[in-house]
Amino acid sequence: MRVAIIGGGIGGLAAAQAVASAAPDAEIVVLEGSDRIGGKLRLGEIGGLTVDVGAEAILARRPEGTALIAAAGLADRLVHPAMMTAGIWTHGAVRPMPPTVMGIPADLDALEATGIVAERPRSVALARPLADMAVADFIGERVGSDIVDRLVEPLLGGVYAGHASELSLDAAAPQIAALGDDLLAGAAKARAAAVDSGPVFAGLVGGIGQLPEAVARASGAEIRTNATVRQLTRTDEGWELVVGPTTAVEVIHADAVIMAAPAPAAARLLADVAPEAAFALAAIDYASMAVLTFAVPRSAFPKAPEGSGFLVPPVDGKSIKAVTYSSNKWEWVGREAGRETIVFRCSIGRAHETELLQRDDAELIDLALSDLGEAVGLTGDPIDACVTRWGGGLPQYTVGHLTRIASIEADIATVPGLEVCGAAYRGVGIPAVIASAQGAAARIISDLDSMKL
Ligand SMILES: Cc1cc2nc3c(=O)[nH]c(=O)nc-3n(C[C@H](O)[C@H](O)[C@H](O)COP(=O)(O)OP(=O)(O)OC[C@H]3O[C@@H](n4cnc5c(N)ncnc54)[C@H](O)[C@@H]3O)c2cc1C
Repeated sequence: MRVAIIGGGIGGLAAAQAVASAAPDAEIVVLEGSDRIGGKLRLGEIGGLTVDVGAEAILARRPEGTALIAAAGLADRLVHPAMMTAGIWTHGAVRPMPPTVMGIPADLDALEATGIVAERPRSVALARPLADMAVADFIGERVGSDIVDRLVEPLLGGVYAGHASELSLDAAAPQIAALGDDLLAGAAKARAAAVDSGPVFAGLVGGIGQLPEAVARASGAEIRTNATVRQLTRTDEGWELVVGPTTAVEVIHADAVIMAAPAPAAARLLADVAPEAAFALAAIDYASMAVLTFAVPRSAFPKAPEGSGFLVPPVDGKSIKAVTYSSNKWEWVGREAGRETIVFRCSIGRAHETELLQRDDAELIDLALSDLGEAVGLTGDPIDACVTRWGGGLPQYTVGHLTRIASIEADIATVPGLEVCGAAYRGVGIPAVIASAQGAAARIISDLDSMKL
């Protein structure tokens, strides 16, 4: 049997790996539109050092990411970031982030000591309505808008590049919905009950951007780059895919297809074969962003940067939304950069901030350096700086997202030999994407088994 996978991001590659391990005889081809596999996982060079310029960490509390790393033969490079606190840059200073559950304070004394919010918040206990709602509405009614603006927004901005006023409580912040009617009491209780189940995040020495190539190799799949899929048609025998540049298109046949491209491409390709799913996919919006990576002399900082970095609440009107001190966070980056160089990255861009991202690279670099100057006193020129743009970087799980996904899944289930996976559906983090890929692979194999292919 021949399985075609559309999209060579970590979703498509994990699907290839899962099909290969469950059905070793399957012929698998991964069709990637761009000139490189990996999608949002990517390595880049800064000051002679190779680091991640896309995704950089995986949640280690879910098994799928670390298990795929092991299956791809990279277990010996698995590392955890240094246990360090992050900060919030607000009210004129970088302040330590108090313990929270996704921005809901779990210790009000600690919160007060930071000066992040103007007043000690009070809970209004309210039962949650059955219907999904915006994260900001849910939290604002219960603990006030200052908590939304200065704690929840920067955290959601980091994960989704989105806005609390649009993101879905059920899809983007279920851990907050689970805190109960009294959010502050729920967060304090959740913190007290939290057991230390080991490090939360993991990465790879040399960068998580090594994972795509390693997974591709382990899968044994045929990997084709510059192979944009332009058309997908169901035939009596299976599937026909029109692939490649417009000047040299090629037709590929397959018994089954796993669609692992982002929602806009999936919507276009599925318009004829699964129109309801295509319609719902077309409604999923994406936020664009840029990751700016810097190498600077240690002397550029008036004092050594502390902690893993800081987040910036959008309400404060700055250009950057987050800074990660990679040299502090990852021991291998600090070691390879050497004592006299600091490597850090800034991210810029949330949903609808297109004007900001229209600036050229030099302007973005200046904006970021100017913000860093104001926040922590950074001065002088960097040794090296690089801008990586992520147009359509992160899907926005807006209110009603889970209902949209259920309708997509129901429509796809009516089409034998077709599955979808990736960040658009049930989690944008790498382990969630891998889980969605593995689910798609298992269903495709069971479809093919029942069709006796
Ligand atoms: C800047 C940034 C930082 C992030 N940081 C983290 C992090 O630290 N930890 C974490 O867990 N998550 C992080 N994420 C999220 C995570 O990386 C992504 O959600 C995940 O990698 C998406 O994987 P995917 O395979 O679904 O999609 P993608 O990576 O988008 O891959 C889809 C692929 O499909 C290809 N494609 C599109 N159309 C076609 C077509 N017609 N034919 C063929 N190919 C096509 C694309 O070129 C692309 O390569 C980050 C995301 C971004 C943007």
